[in-house]
Parts: sequence; C-alpha cells; structure tokens
Amino acid sequence: MIERDQLVSYLNQLLEVGKFQDYCPNGLQVEGKSAIRKIVTGVTACQALLDKAVELKADAVLVHHGYFWKNEAPQVVGLKHNRLKTLLTHDINLLAYHLPLDAHPELGNNGQLAKILEIDAIGPFSENDQARGLYGRLKQAMSVEELSQFIAKKLNRQPLMIAGAKSKIETIAWCTGGAQSLIDQAHLKGVDAYLSGEVSESTYHFAKEMGIAYIGAGHHATERYGVKALSEHLAEKFDVKCQFIDIDNPV
Ligand SMILES: [Zn+2]
Repeated sequence: MIERDQLVSYLNQLLEVGKFQDYCPNGLQVEGKSAIRKIVTGVTACQALLDKAVELKADAVLVHHGYFWKNEAPQVVGLKHNRLKTLLTHDINLLAYHLPLDAHPELGNNGQLAKILEIDAIGPFSENDQARGLYGRLKQAMSVEELSQFIAKKLNRQPLMIAGAKSKIETIAWCTGGAQSLIDQAHLKGVDAYLSGEVSESTYHFAKEMGIAYIGAGHHATERYGVKALSEHLAEKFDVKCQFIDIDNPV
C-alpha cells in the first residue's frame, strides 16, 4: 500500500513537472481514496480504461492523456460527466502526466521508443521541444521499405511512410504523439528520416520538398511505452500492484 499523497509527490518529483508549460495539469487530476493498493495504467483515460479499472478494483488510474485540456469546454456534461462520475462513484484517483512523460530521459515515451526501435540516441533534436524528441542512429542502414517493415514488426502495426531523398536511412529523429509539425526541426538537424505518431496533409509536401523521409507510426502506438515503463518502475519501487492495459486505438 502507498499513500496517495506520497505517490503523487514522488511522481511529480521524478518527472520534474515544475519544468513544463503544458496544455493540461500534470499530477493528480481527480482525487479519490487516500490508500492505494492497485493502479491501472494506460495511454488515455477513456471510458473503456475506467471501466476496466472499476472491474479490477483499482484505487488509481495513471495515464499519459488525462483531462482538462487547454481550450476544452469546461462543462461537465456528456462523456466528460460519464468519465468523472465513474471515477468519483468508485473513489478512484486519476493521475496524468503529459509532456513530463514524453520527456523523461529513461521512462519517457521518446526514450522508451529508442529502446523498442533499437536506436542509439544522441540527444534532443530541438531546443524548443518540451517533449524532448530525440535523434540518433539506426542499428543498421535500411531502405525505406526495410525500415517500414522493421517498425511494423516492433510496433505491431504498419506505419505510414513517405520516402525522402536518401535510398538508405541511417539517421533518424523522433517525437512521439502528434509532433508531425517538428519535421522542420528534424530537417535542420540533418537526419535522413523523422518519425512521429500522426500526420497532416502538409507533412507530405514538407517531407518531399525537404528531402526527408517521414514515418507516421501512430499516436497511440508510439505513446504506449512511457506509461508502461513507469508502471513497471512503480511496481518495483513500492508495495503496489500496477497493471498496464492497452485499449487499442488505430490512430
Ligand atoms: Zn500524446
């Protein structure tokens, strides 16, 4: 068992939440019971994840995408009402870490993706990127087709591939989630390819005109690994059960 306040202050410190200017509050978003024995973790605090948490008798839900986003309608109606009602009725805490969980050098989404894709990370590719996207070298040079197959195998889904100028890809930058607009920053770094989760119509033209390959590997697919790693870290560190639940999302 761990006290809620102890867990929250540990995570806030570990993930250095004070350093970020984020689009949502990081840390405890919805207060529940004070004693925590079981935590359900996942990418997004959607209704399906909450229902699973209730079924598993979790005391807390820990996610990358929580609630109360900047520019979101503040009214507690519709699906927002349903989600909050589920949490409050069952006295379940909701903890969410957005940019801090992208950026953490070891447990963050970007650091974890390097591990999954076996890339030797050199460091961040942009000074202005709070999510701390990284760049590095592939374990071996690959054609666009080979890289596509490699990523499909590692992430268990086929990525969207836009070929660049180089026939062999050796260097790559990446930032998980919806960071396709950082393609120009990646291009400035001089890498052969840039990977993010989502894609915009304009990404295609930018990639073609910059001569850089672009890989849209899925927002959900690229952001499963940070919260999963954090889940394992907490289970090791404290006397608490943690269960990562992958609610599939094709985007
Ligand atoms: Zn995200």
